[in-house]
Amino acid sequence: MADEPIFRVLGHLEAIHKTPSGWDARCPGPNHKHDDRHPSLSVGQGNDGRVLLKCFAGCATDDIVRALRLEMKDLFPQVIDNVRRIPYRLKSNGEVRAIHERVETPEGKRYTWKQPNGESGLRGLKLEDMPLYGIDDIPDTGPIVLTEGEKSAQALLDLGVPAVGTVTGAASTPSAAALARLQGREVWLWPDNDAPGAAHMQRIAEGIQPPPRLIYWRAAPDKGDAADYVAGGGQAADISTLLVEIAVSQHSWTLPQLLRAEFPPLRWAIPRLLCTGCFIMAGKPKLGKSTLLQRVSADIVRGAPVLGKIPCERGEVLYLALEESPRRMQTRLMQMLGEDKPPEGMTIATWWPRADKGGMEDIEAWLKEAINPRLVVIDTFVRFKPPDKGKMGDRLYDRDYDSIVPMVSLALKFNISLILVFHVSKAIPDDPLEMVSGTLGLTGAADGVMILKRERGQATASLFVTGRDVEERDLALRRDEEDLSWALLGDASEYRLTAERAELLKILEQQPGMKPAEIADAIGWLARRVRRLLFSMAHDGQVRIRDGHYYPPVDTAPLLLFEQHRTAES
Ligand SMILES: [Zn+2]
Repeated sequence: MADEPIFRVLGHLEAIHKTPSGWDARCPGPNHKHDDRHPSLSVGQGNDGRVLLKCFAGCATDDIVRALRLEMKDLFPQVIDNVRRIPYRLKSNGEVRAIHERVETPEGKRYTWKQPNGESGLRGLKLEDMPLYGIDDIPDTGPIVLTEGEKSAQALLDLGVPAVGTVTGAASTPSAAALARLQGREVWLWPDNDAPGAAHMQRIAEGIQPPPRLIYWRAAPDKGDAADYVAGGGQAADISTLLVEIAVSQHSWTLPQLLRAEFPPLRWAIPRLLCTGCFIMAGKPKLGKSTLLQRVSADIVRGAPVLGKIPCERGEVLYLALEESPRRMQTRLMQMLGEDKPPEGMTIATWWPRADKGGMEDIEAWLKEAINPRLVVIDTFVRFKPPDKGKMGDRLYDRDYDSIVPMVSLALKFNISLILVFHVSKAIPDDPLEMVSGTLGLTGAADGVMILKRERGQATASLFVTGRDVEERDLALRRDEEDLSWALLGDASEYRLTAERAELLKILEQQPGMKPAEIADAIGWLARRVRRLLFSMAHDGQVRIRDGHYYPPVDTAPLLLFEQHRTAES
């Protein structure tokens, strides 16, 4: 401790008096006529061990340092025998709880823990409960940047950016108590540019409300952090331009390494209506949400046009019908399928463990078993999510929000669509979104929302759909009570294949795997026109592309099987 800069500087000062926050001393600076008989210099210690000098007569720090026959660098922790020790003080409520000493040697850096009196160790305190670096000094308002480690936080503080740093290392996570003072504040997370750093911030993001935002420094070097940003000349004013939203689909998930990653293309369980992600289906009870979703599920497993109109790619569906009896499901599906051969690929469960009792793991297991999973429906989500208990103080919003976050992660992880069904008892307002945001408060958590509205006794209904990757639309549907089919009425033309698209699809069905130039030759079109149309069709989920070869959207399971088989052989 004796080599700390504070003791070196105090050794050069006169008329020193201890004060609650540091020391007073005679200022040797130029602004004093009578030798500064009433000491004007306040001497303190920064949280990182640097010496803070302030003269109340306004002498500049470098004038004071020069008068003391010191150099500016003497105010900072020094390199001694090739080792620099930076004692970061972790304070809470004005008291130093521990010192986290960064030891920089030619071999690298390490940290040691010391008690405020200089003895080693944490004195029984838990690492996770340690105060964040700088938490005692955060301003009352405005955003706060949270970095991994004290060095990055201090680098930002030196730029004048309000910042705090985690002290646990990337492998651990600050406890709720350690994060408490960030709750309700606008927090910007600045992860180190490596996988452990991203995971560290991801775990923290899950524990902070409102959801924090993420600083994504695209030009960061490998392992680069906020300290590197500052060292490279990065400016405080530019930091806000690096902000990205951690949409909850990224809560799970997409911190910098994922943002950087090549994402698989969005998969559309229903082209332009239902893509990869977690969707909420809401509507009053007994409107037919379940029959609609069961119909859609049956269409998808058969690769039949969804709602009789929208061509889709065949895939497997898991349907958790948690409010149904097996008998009712049987009756309903028989009615729905009529004479059709029962399709393979649909798993129906009328009981499933709740999310916190192994239900999530069981869904994951199903997804891993499936060859081409496309859709999981949880009908209803209230029968699946962990039961609410002992949290009556929390708003409904928080509880539902928390329970949806892992579902969003799951959908993203397996690149599938996930639909959570909610009954809404209230009257439906004119703006359908208001219903979900007001009653359930869920639009922030999920990737999309579907709202089914129907006047009781009427055969037509409207399905309002919106989402991050889905255009907002209001579709008119008609229910046929006989075979429980739902047919798309309005807006359907957008999904119908145009004659041109149908022609391309026909030739691909005859000869899967053709390239645009080959198709152009075969049908006498310009290759450019074929390429452009195929591109749009691929986007809309009407064809599949692989290594420049195009395939029809349906009947892909055998294709995937073949590829799996081939991989196993090679
Ligand atoms: Zn002075």
